[in-house]
Parts: sequence; C-alpha cells; structure tokens
Amino acid sequence: MYFTEEHHIFRKSFRDFLQKEVVPYIDKWEREGAIERFIWEKFGEMGYFGLNQPEEYGGLNLDLFYTVIFLEELQRINSGGFAAAMWAHAYLNMSHLKAEASHEIKQKYLTPSIEGKKIGCLCITEPFGGSDVAGMRTTAIKKGDTYVINGSKTFITNGIYSDYLIVSAKTNPKEKHKGMSIFVVDRNTKGISSTKLDKLGWRASDTAEISFDNVVIPAENLLGEEGKGFGYIMQHFALERLIMGINAHARAEFAVEYAIQYMSEREAFGTTIDKFQVLRHKIAEMASKVDMCKEYNYSIAKRLNDGVYVVKEASMSKLLSTKMADEVIYDALQLLGGYGYMEDYPMARLLRDSRIGSIGGGTSEILKEIIAKMVIDGKDYKPVVKN
Ligand SMILES: Cc1cc2nc3c(=O)[nH]c(=O)nc-3n(C[C@H](O)[C@H](O)[C@H](O)COP(=O)(O)OP(=O)(O)OC[C@H]3O[C@@H](n4cnc5c(N)ncnc54)[C@H](O)[C@@H]3O)c2cc1C
Repeated sequence: MYFTEEHHIFRKSFRDFLQKEVVPYIDKWEREGAIERFIWEKFGEMGYFGLNQPEEYGGLNLDLFYTVIFLEELQRINSGGFAAAMWAHAYLNMSHLKAEASHEIKQKYLTPSIEGKKIGCLCITEPFGGSDVAGMRTTAIKKGDTYVINGSKTFITNGIYSDYLIVSAKTNPKEKHKGMSIFVVDRNTKGISSTKLDKLGWRASDTAEISFDNVVIPAENLLGEEGKGFGYIMQHFALERLIMGINAHARAEFAVEYAIQYMSEREAFGTTIDKFQVLRHKIAEMASKVDMCKEYNYSIAKRLNDGVYVVKEASMSKLLSTKMADEVIYDALQLLGGYGYMEDYPMARLLRDSRIGSIGGGTSEILKEIIAKMVIDGKDYKPVVKN
C-alpha cells in the first residue's frame, strides 16, 4: 500500500550499503563510543542525509517512505547507537534548519549537513529537567547585534563530536513557553565545553552534557522568530516521535525474525525448539504485536507525508511501539536461552538499546499527558511553521 518499486530498490541498495560500509565497523564503534568521520561523509555522498530535504540545498526531496526505509534498515544492523547518531543528525537538528533557518544559514549549515561534512546536535534537555521544556533555564540575552548564551544542556546525542549545535534558550527568562527561542551555534565558539556521558545502551553514539559560559553568537543565528522556540520544538516532536515509533517496530521485527531463525536450528529434547507449542504461540503473539504497530506507524507516516499535523497519533505511535519493542525483545532474548544473554548474539545489545524508547524525545508519561489532553479535554494543537 505504501511502497513503490523505487522504494524497494532504495531499500535493497541501502541495505547492501550498510552491510558493506557500516557493519564491519559496528563493534569497534560500540566499544569506542565514537563513530568515525568517514562514514558520515559516505552517508552524505550517497544522499542519505538529504532524503526529505529541499533540492535547492542539496537534498533529494523524497516522500516520507524513504525516511521510513532509512530508519527501518538502520535498526536491522543492530546498533541503536549508530542509528541514533545518524537519524538524530538527519531529523532533529536538520528539521530546525530546514523549517526555520534563513537562506544564508541554510547554505552555511544545512548544505554541509546534507553532505555529511558538518554534524549537528539538538540541545533541549537540561540537567534540571527534560520533560518540562518550558521550564528550561538556559538564557540567550540580546546585546547589540549578538546574543549571549549561558546555561547547560544534558543527554545530547552527538553532543561531543558535532560541529554545530541547535540550542533552545530563553530570550525572555520571565516568560515560560513564550520566552523561548532557537539558535544555531558553532562548536568553535568560545565558552562551550562538553563532557561525555557513560550510558546503558546506544553505546556507539556520543551523549554529552554541554555548558555555555557567556557564549556570544551573531544575532542572525536566531532560527525563525524570537519567542517562538517552544512552538518549533513541539512541532518537530511529531516527526521525532513517529521516528521513534518506527524504530521500535523495526527493531522488534528484527528480534522476531532472529528468534525464528534461531529456533529453527536449536535443538532440545530431540527436536528443534520451534516445534514446542508454547514457544510457537509466543512467536505468534510477538509477530502480531509487531504487525499492529508497524501498520499503524505506516498509516501515520502517510498522513504526515500528506501534510496532516499528527501530534496525537505520533505520540500514540511512540507510546505503544516502544513498549511493544521492549516486551518483544525481552521475550526474544528468552527464546535464545543463555545465548540471548551473550554479547556474541544480538539480543543483549538490542535489549539495552531498546530501553531508551520510552524515555528519549518525550517520556511515556508525558506522551500520555498529551494524548489525555487531546482525547479527554478536546485540546487541539496547530503547527507554527510549514515543515
Ligand atoms: C541516550 C539519550 C539521548 C538523548 N538525546 C537527546 C538529545 O539529543 N537532545 C535532547 O535535548 N535531549 C535528549 N535526551 C533527553 C531526553 O529527551 C530526556 O531524558 C527526557 O525528555 C526526560 O527528561 P529527564 O531525563 O530530565 O526526566 P524528568 O523530566 O526529570 O522526568 C523524570 C520522571 O518523571 C516523569 N515525569 C516528569 N514530569 C511528569 C509529569 N508532568 N507527569 C508524570 N510524570 C512526569 C518522567 O516521565 C520520568 O519518568 C536524551 C536522553 C537519553 C537518555
């Protein structure tokens, strides 16, 4: 229903590319917590960072199902950290550049991002709190034709090795939602320091705490309008949350396929274990859950692609798909017995990488708040800019 012949060709070529260019390095990058530069440039050369970006800036301007394929295939090579580094760059920081940046800023940051020559990160969460976005304390105070940024951000994906940062800050600290703005900040600007964080999963990606100590940036680095930052962030959350829902169904699907393969080879009590009814029924249940989420996510991707503002649906997608993925992967690990717990088999990494699903990009509790406001109170949200 959603994929054309061209989509299938793209999937095959991207899958082959990942096997050839990425998979041989994954264990090294997982160990070192850093992804080498050459692969960013290769992604850029192949056009993978520009799938949904305008041709004027070097993008391919393709429909959202190319992005769906990009996300799904990244999950299938089983490094949530590598996948996160790539999709965060392509769809978190670059979404702000695409929608809110001026022509000059797009030329300076968006084009090299599409080419894989500049890496970006999106800095919203602060040590004092991530869920309460409007309560952020980082400030950006206008002084002449500059802004001066002070504060700190944490848990930032690509926060160490990126070349620029998309930063949210209060331009009017007395206000909550209405006082927030978004800026692009060059990594080399004086006063920026970052500390690498150690974490449970996503080990190939770098995650950082970042401090801004009197960081002076040109006023033209403001993205969009002053005071509209909260609206921009919320708007892009629709795509980010759907992305996390799609990632979840894709890694769960990979887990089910792997478990089926394993069960067809592993023997116990004189037969392969895929003959035991209790395990067959477990697989039937897991496969059904994956399919329910996958089909839902595709239908929401279609609506988003058609220009519908899918705030509620993307929240629902992330809420249930990430829960489903955690459950399915937990069960898939069980089907491998002791091998499921070993690093030589994919389930151990898959299990720890999956756990971030219900936390990053809006926790499940916050998503339930949004959904409840929409379904119980009839609240409606409107986009602030054209995506
Ligand atoms: C690996 C990783 C990568 C990340 N990458 C990025 C990134 O690139 N950029 C970025 O800006 N952020 C990033 N984050 C941050 C992530 O989005 C936040 O961790 C998340 O939004 C939660 O914020 P918090 O950790 O401050 O938790 P808190 O807001 O302190 O929440 C703690 C607990 O309280 C619950 N809670 C809070 N408020 C409510 C409420 N009103 N009702 C009910 N329950 C509530 C939460 O659901 C949670 O269970 C990343 C996080 C991780 C772990």
